[in-house]
Amino acid sequence: DHLVNQIAAGEVVERPASVIKELIENSLDAGCARLEIDVDQGGIKRLRVRDDGCGIPRDQLALALARHATSKLAVPADLEAVGTLGFRGEALPSIASVSRLTLTSRVGPDSEAEASEVASDRAGDSAWEVAVAIDGRLEGPRPAAHPPGTSVEVRDLFFNTPARRKFLRTEKTEFDHVDQVVRRLALARPDVALELRHNGRVVHQLPAADGRPESVLARLDRLLGAGFAEQSLEIDASAVDLRLHGWIRRPAFSRSQPDQQFFYVNGRLIRDRLITHAIRQAFSDFLHQARHPGYVLFLELPPRLVDVNVHPAKHEVRFRESRQVHDFIRRALQRRLAQGVL
Ligand code: ADP
Ligand code: MG
Repeated sequence: DHLVNQIAAGEVVERPASVIKELIENSLDAGCARLEIDVDQGGIKRLRVRDDGCGIPRDQLALALARHATSKLAVPADLEAVGTLGFRGEALPSIASVSRLTLTSRVGPDSEAEASEVASDRAGDSAWEVAVAIDGRLEGPRPAAHPPGTSVEVRDLFFNTPARRKFLRTEKTEFDHVDQVVRRLALARPDVALELRHNGRVVHQLPAADGRPESVLARLDRLLGAGFAEQSLEIDASAVDLRLHGWIRRPAFSRSQPDQQFFYVNGRLIRDRLITHAIRQAFSDFLHQARHPGYVLFLELPPRLVDVNVHPAKHEVRFRESRQVHDFIRRALQRRLAQGVL
């Protein structure tokens, strides 16, 4: 089973940044309002994600680290199919199989689960942790100190898979990837307070936006550079089943920011040729100025009209009505550029 997890890890866990992504997504799924991310030596030595989400009850800690669908990999020939199966319930076991992982959690005071736990255990002793030993066996649950919420600590990534470890780059490069992942998620969820530290130094300290546009724009400025907010045009366009909102940088200010392109579909960052094409077409009148249009855009549409699971680790999507989506985006941006630039 340990080996099966390591094989799955090859698909989801490429580097510290991919671990951070999985952990943050779990924290967001848990409904957290606050995220603390600590990274040492690019995340290779140690990383930890702490949230104030719903927590995991004591009796489910071991389950969270267990593979949900062992049967998927019954025979080696099935390995080919892994890429298309998705990885529901596989992230934590995969990460745990290639690192020294500790999971510490405490359920919130208003949760039913804790009510029963408090009844069966001493009150005030309600944080628990499990750790994965070097041989893959689980230690715990044992009592721990933790506020309501969850921490996952991952040490010595790939310590037991030297071939994988060889592909890691320098501490700086690995941290840059971590920072990219954190930025993407921080742009998508301004309602969640977030702190990122590298080797003990604060890299981002972002308060939760309170719903006013200015507070969201303040986060954009901090993540994309001061001036982004001032130099951008707000977009909010709707059509049947489709809504596009967010910001595009005015063409005159979009000279060379290839790393300022963020497009989310139903909250997930994607990179898609159809989308890129639609945006370039909208900007085509300005392309001499804006070779790399800057944007942070969110497309919302009913889940039945989009398949985001084309590949779990990549950023592809497949739209049911791709032409319609393409033209909607192009026209919405074109209209806004025409108003905002002239
Ligand atoms: P998945 O997210 O696909 O369900 P994971 O392996 O990432 O699988 O996580 C396994 C399970 O552990 C989750 O389904 C969730 O129940 C629990 N879990 C993981 N991280 C957290 C967290 N930060 N807070 C609360 N529950 C969590
Ligand atoms: Mg997950």
